[in-house]
Amino acid sequence: MAGLRIKKVWVDRKVEKDGLTRKLLDGLAGRPVEIVDSVEAVRRFIRQHSDPVGESKQHLFITAQPSFIRPCPCTPGCLGCGYWTIDLDLNCPFDCSYCILQDYLDGQPLTVAVNREQLGSELEEFFKQRPSGITRIGTGELADSLALDELTENSVFLIERFRDRPGFWLELKSKAGLPPALLRVSPADNVVLSWSLNPQAVIASEEKGTAGLEERLRAASRAVGHGYRVGFHFDPILHYPGWHQDYERVVEAIFRLVPVEAIAWVSLGSLRFPPGLLPLARRRFPQSRIYEHEFIRSAEGKYRYPRPLRQWLYRQLAEMFAGFGAEDRLYLCMETVEVWREFYGKIKRGRQNLAFPFPWQC
Ligand code: SF4
Repeated sequence: MAGLRIKKVWVDRKVEKDGLTRKLLDGLAGRPVEIVDSVEAVRRFIRQHSDPVGESKQHLFITAQPSFIRPCPCTPGCLGCGYWTIDLDLNCPFDCSYCILQDYLDGQPLTVAVNREQLGSELEEFFKQRPSGITRIGTGELADSLALDELTENSVFLIERFRDRPGFWLELKSKAGLPPALLRVSPADNVVLSWSLNPQAVIASEEKGTAGLEERLRAASRAVGHGYRVGFHFDPILHYPGWHQDYERVVEAIFRLVPVEAIAWVSLGSLRFPPGLLPLARRRFPQSRIYEHEFIRSAEGKYRYPRPLRQWLYRQLAEMFAGFGAEDRLYLCMETVEVWREFYGKIKRGRQNLAFPFPWQC
């Protein structure tokens, strides 16, 4: 597991005897293990450290989650894409300078849930209650979907739950390579493996511990070779001198390795962050230059690039994708109605998904 550096494993007493807990501990053999009554004991330990965020990524907590499935909150004032999330793991071993989890998770260790039977039951209920239309659901909101997969093999568990559930699209979103378990199972038509992409220079300076661009694209190519659909996320798009050429190279690199027919979707989202992230990220990443830009404070309180710049960035990327006949794969992430309108000319309003923009799927 590249990038995984676990100093200590903490086990919630209530799952101490669980079969999956034992399996995870076998996979983490050699690390000190402590049984605790709740996550608070781990958080207290982590908060004593001079860099609690960095420390939180090196402590793994095995527990049971009270519930897993919720609608993606998107951002107030923005047009949602009808996404749902499964909070199976929390936190991430990678360390991106722009990651909002630094501000959001507040000392939460890398957290792995072992009560998968409950997740299985929640999913059954979810499938029953949302019988029509297209529903997308993924594990990549509060974690990287594949960063811990060699340890947990959650991907295999989830793929089997989603197999033969037409209309329910599972997305596993990552900045890691391709875990071997994904090549041992048959792909399912409604499972999308997706990678967040940025130019290699950005990955090297801002996305510590993640797989390089080449490795992510090779992983996508191998996934397609095995029969999976793939997705890509340009999020956050960063604006800096030379950005256009850098992003153009990324788009060209995609289509050298991945055919357009295998791409389910590509999201675009420009850098945005809550005010609380700024002091934290500046302290943790003093060499980063991404916050040295003009931002506006939008209605929901986050800082963003000014709207004309965001619109221009999206238009430029749309042109790059149009060059490969893939502009219909694009949608915007956490953007305002005005920006969507400018991007599409009109807004598609489906029954469940206000902004699900893929005519080739509907
Ligand atoms: S890979 Fe995603 S979840 Fe992990 S640190 Fe980077 S932005 Fe955060």
